[in-house]
Amino acid sequence: MAIEKTLILVKPDGMQRRLAGLCIDRLDNSPFEMAAAKVVSVTEELARKHYALLEGQGVFADKTKYQQLINFLKGDYNNVPGRRVLAMVYRGENAVKGVREIVGATNPEAAAPGTIRGAFGRVSARTGIFENVVHASGNAEEAEREVAIWFRPEELA
Ligand code: ADP
Repeated sequence: MAIEKTLILVKPDGMQRRLAGLCIDRLDNSPFEMAAAKVVSVTEELARKHYALLEGQGVFADKTKYQQLINFLKGDYNNVPGRRVLAMVYRGENAVKGVREIVGATNPEAAAPGTIRGAFGRVSARTGIFENVVHASGNAEEAEREVAIWFRPEELA
């Protein structure tokens, strides 16, 4: 059993629909504890850094689709003033896997109804991008990389 930190973002669709509080509530009603949280204005550079490993992979082999993913994280499709997302770090035993279970599968149509994505995610009719409310790190290695992108070490309590 390892004590892990994992990154969670309430993405622009979640911010637009005022789901940040609900996401925190679900995460706080779990064995994991909040270690950091802040509202961040997402630039093109930050979005590209966050999703760098997906560039050219799978559906994102299509350059237009990849740019749509970047645009989505920047809030271009969700009318969020200031391009705001809520970035958080949760910590606990096997937090990466545990938080992913709370969040649900990537495709909101495949995500279990009891999960955040299953309950509130949708597929954008405009772009086909899964607007799935939250990002949560996929594995321990990604979590380390992503926490370091969004937070300075002194910001983690
Ligand atoms: P996850 O966010 O569950 O770790 P990925 O890292 O594979 O999933 O993908 C990043 C994000 O890209 C997803 O959360 C979703 O918003 C979007 N996405 C992934 N795969 C697809 C797809 N096949 N069609 C549309 N959007 C997708």
